[in-house]
Amino acid sequence: MKTHVRVLVIGGGVVGVSTLYHLAKKGWTDVALLERTELTAGSTWHAAGLLPLFNMSYTVGQLHKYSVDLYKRLPAETGQDVSFHVTGNLRLATNRDRMDEYQKYCGTANTIGVPFEVITPAQVKELWPLVDLGGSGDTPAIVGALYHPNDGHIAPADLTMALRIGARKAGAEIYEQTEALSIERTASGEWKVHTAKGDIVAEHIVCATGNYARQTGRLLGLSVPAIPVEHQYIVYDQSPELKAYRTAGGRELAVLRESDQSYYLREERMGWILGPYEKGAPARFADGVPDWFGRSLFPGDLERLLPHVEAAMRRVPCLETCGIKDIVNGPISYTPDGSPLIGPAWNLPNVWLNEGHSFGITAAGGSGWQLAEWIVEGEPGIDMLAVDPRRYGDYTSKRYVVKKNEETYRNVFVIHFPDEERPDARPAKTSPVYDKIDRMGAVWGQRYGWERANWFAPPGVERKDRWSFRRSNYFEHVGNECRLMREKVGVIDLSPFTKFEVTGTGAEAWLDGLVANKVPTRIGRIALCHALARRGGGIRSEFTITKIADQKYYVVSAGAAERYDSDYLRKALPADGSVGLRNITTSRGCFVIAGPRSRDLLSKLTDTPLDNASFPWLTGQTIEVGLAVDVHALRVNFVGSLGWELHFPIEYAHHLFDAVFDAGKEYGIGMVGMRAMESLRLEKSYRMWGSDMTPDYTPFETGLDRFVRMNKGEFIGKAQLQKQLAAGVPNRFVTLEVHGVTDADPLGNEPLFDSDGRIVGRATSGYYGHCVRKSLAIGYVKADFAAVGTQLSIEILGERRPATVIPESPYDPDNHELRA
Ligand SMILES: Cc1cc2nc3c(=O)[nH]c(=O)nc-3n(C[C@H](O)[C@H](O)[C@H](O)COP(=O)(O)OP(=O)(O)OC[C@H]3O[C@@H](n4cnc5c(N)ncnc54)[C@H](O)[C@@H]3O)c2cc1C
Repeated sequence: MKTHVRVLVIGGGVVGVSTLYHLAKKGWTDVALLERTELTAGSTWHAAGLLPLFNMSYTVGQLHKYSVDLYKRLPAETGQDVSFHVTGNLRLATNRDRMDEYQKYCGTANTIGVPFEVITPAQVKELWPLVDLGGSGDTPAIVGALYHPNDGHIAPADLTMALRIGARKAGAEIYEQTEALSIERTASGEWKVHTAKGDIVAEHIVCATGNYARQTGRLLGLSVPAIPVEHQYIVYDQSPELKAYRTAGGRELAVLRESDQSYYLREERMGWILGPYEKGAPARFADGVPDWFGRSLFPGDLERLLPHVEAAMRRVPCLETCGIKDIVNGPISYTPDGSPLIGPAWNLPNVWLNEGHSFGITAAGGSGWQLAEWIVEGEPGIDMLAVDPRRYGDYTSKRYVVKKNEETYRNVFVIHFPDEERPDARPAKTSPVYDKIDRMGAVWGQRYGWERANWFAPPGVERKDRWSFRRSNYFEHVGNECRLMREKVGVIDLSPFTKFEVTGTGAEAWLDGLVANKVPTRIGRIALCHALARRGGGIRSEFTITKIADQKYYVVSAGAAERYDSDYLRKALPADGSVGLRNITTSRGCFVIAGPRSRDLLSKLTDTPLDNASFPWLTGQTIEVGLAVDVHALRVNFVGSLGWELHFPIEYAHHLFDAVFDAGKEYGIGMVGMRAMESLRLEKSYRMWGSDMTPDYTPFETGLDRFVRMNKGEFIGKAQLQKQLAAGVPNRFVTLEVHGVTDADPLGNEPLFDSDGRIVGRATSGYYGHCVRKSLAIGYVKADFAAVGTQLSIEILGERRPATVIPESPYDPDNHELRA
C-alpha cells in the first residue's frame, strides 16, 4: 500500500470507483481508493440498475446524459461487459398535469440534447403490448407518455468492475478490506488517513461512502445531510405471457414507469422487477451504519408494497400469474432535495464529497467526471450549483434530514410542479416577525430552511396554493401585490439575505481581487459586484458591497448562498490576518420598503434627509429609524422602484415592522411576497443568482458589462474574460416578450428557436409581468440572435409561441422611478 497519494478516494461503490477512474483518466494517476470490505458492498451490489435520463434539473440531466454515453463506450475500452440493455424508458401519464410535467421536462431535455419522444396511447400499446391502456374502473386511462429510446438498465457490479479496470489501467490503485478509521490534518496541510494497515497521506480526499456518509463526515467534523431510506423492489418468477411475447420475436420491453402510481417495472430473466416508491419508508442509519449490517438487506415489507403491486397488476395484467421470487429491501442514500452532494466540503481545504446518491448507478459516471474536473482543474466544467454540497447550511439537523429525506423518497414520483412547496420539517427557520406576517395572510414557502411568504391571501381567500405549470389561484393576488408596490408602497421581508462584514487594512484590496467590478472606495457608495469562476470566467456569486466605514464593508448576497459564499470567502482569505470576515446573516434582518410613497413613509421615521441630493440612488447610510439604531439603509432593491433596503440589528425587527406599518397606513402600505418579486424583477430584466447568473456564462454574456472593470488590475476570472473578448462573446442575454400566452407563462429552462426551428438559446427565467401586462422571459441566445426586434419562438409545455427580443427593462427602462 502506498503511503502518499495525490488523491485518496474513500469508498468503493460505483460512485467512488467512477471518481477514481475519471481522476486517473485526467492524468492524475497517483491516486488510490480505500474500501472497507469489497467493491460494491454498499448499495451498489443490490441496485436494480435502471438508468433513467429523466430529470427535471438542468445540471443532473447533464450528469445522467454523460453517464449513459460513457457506459455504452466502457466495454470496448475495458473489455468488461456491463450488460447495458438499451431498452428505452416509458413514462406513462394519466392526467393533464402529468403531461404538463413531461412537456416541461422536454424543454430541459431539448436544451441538454437528450433525445425523447412524447407519444400517444396507441404508440404506448405498440411499444408495450402487455400494457392495459385503462379507462375503466380503477385503472385510469393513459393519456400519453414520455419515451426515452436511449437508456435502459445495466448490471451495477459489472459497471463498477469496468470502471475499476479502466482506473487501474490508467495507474490508480485500489485497496480492499481497508477501512478509513480516522482522518487528521497534517502540519503541511495534507490529510492523513489511518487504516488498520497503516496510514496514507493525501493532498486531497474524496468521500464516496454511500450509506456511511454521515459517519465519514463525522471523522472530519462535518454534518453531512445524507441519510439513507429503505427502498424495495420485488423480483418475480418467469411470466408465461412475457415469455410467449419474447419467444415470438418481441424486443425487450422498455422500462415502464407508471408515475401516477409510483412504481417502475422492468424485465428480468423472462420475469419482472417491480420497484415502488412507497409511503412510509423509514430513514435508516441516521447515527451511522451499525457494524453488523455490512452487505446485508432489511426484511421485505410486503404490506407497504401492496398498493403498488395491485396498481401494477391492473396496468400489466400478466403480473397476476407470476409468483414473487424475492424482495430486495436495501438502504438508498437520500438528501433533503433528492439530488446528490458533489463538490467541495465546506470549511475544509481539499476535502471533496461525492455522497447522497439515490440514483447512483445513473449518476456515477457524470458525478465522477465533474468531480475529477473540479479537483484537477480547480473548477467544474458545467454549472454544478444544483448538486454543490454547500447548497445546504447548518440548519440540516439530524431530524430535519430524516423528515425531509422520507418526504423526498415518497414524493419521487409526484408531479414536480414548479411552485410546489413541501410541508415536512417546517417551519424551521423564521424571521422574528413571522407571526405578524402570518396574520396578514401569508402563504408560505421555504428556501434554505427559511420560511418566506410567497404571496398573501386577502381576507376570504383560501390560504393555499393550487400547484400548477400554468397560471393558478394566486395569479390575481400576486398581480395586486405588484401593483401595490409600483403604485403605493410595499414591504418584503428579506431577512434571510446572506450578510458579511469585511474589515481590516487589507479588506478593500482583497475584495477587489475577488470581483470584477471596482469595490467602492468612498464611504456610503454601493457597488454590485460579481465573483467569477477562475476556469471560464462565469459568474459564481453576486455581492452587493457597501463601504460603511473606513476599512469596513457590508457585503450582501443571496439567502440560499450562505454556506456557498461563506466557504468561498473564508478559503480565499489572506493568511496575513489583514482581513476580518464575519458572517452576520442572523444578527441582522432586512425589510425592503419600496414604491413611490416609500420616501414619504420613511421620512416620518427618520431625521436623515432622504431627498435625492442627500441620499442618492446606489448609496447607503447607517441611520436611526424609529427607535432603531445602526440601521444600514441601502438605496437599492430588486424590484426596481424607489425604495430602500433597511438592514437592521435583529432585535429591532418587531419595532421596525410595526413602525413601518403604522407610518405607511396613510399611503396604503401592504406586504409583497416572493412571487410578486419574481414578476417585478423580470419587468426590470434583473438577473437572479443561481438561475440567470451561473458559472456557465460570463458577465459579458449576461449583459453585465457595466459591472466589469477590465482596466482596474487583477481579479479572478479576468484572464478568461480577456480571452473571451478576443475570441468574441458567444452568447448574449436577452429579454423576450412572449406572444399569445393566456395560460402558461415561461418559467425558465425553455428552449428558444429561430425561424428555421433550430435551437439558438434557452430561457433561464420567465413570468408574467403584471404591471407591463406581458408574458416575459429572460435568457441566453447565440450572439447573432440578440438584436432587439429579432423574432424567435419559445416552447412552453410543448407549444411553440412567438417571442420577440425587446429592450432590457420593459418597466421604466430609464430608471426614472428608481432615481426619483
Ligand atoms: C433497492 C435499491 C435499488 C436501487 N436501484 C437503483 C437503480 O435502479 N438505478 C440507480 O441509479 N440507483 C439505484 N439505487 C441506488 C444505488 O444503489 C446507489 O445510489 C448507489 O449504489 C450509490 O453508490 P455509492 O458508490 O455512492 O455508494 P455505495 O455503493 O453504498 O458504496 C459506498 C462504499 O463505501 C464503503 N465505505 C464506507 N465507509 C468507508 C470507510 N470508512 N472506509 C472505506 N470504505 C468505506 C462501503 O463499504 C461501500 O462499499 C438503488 C438502491 C437500492 C437500495
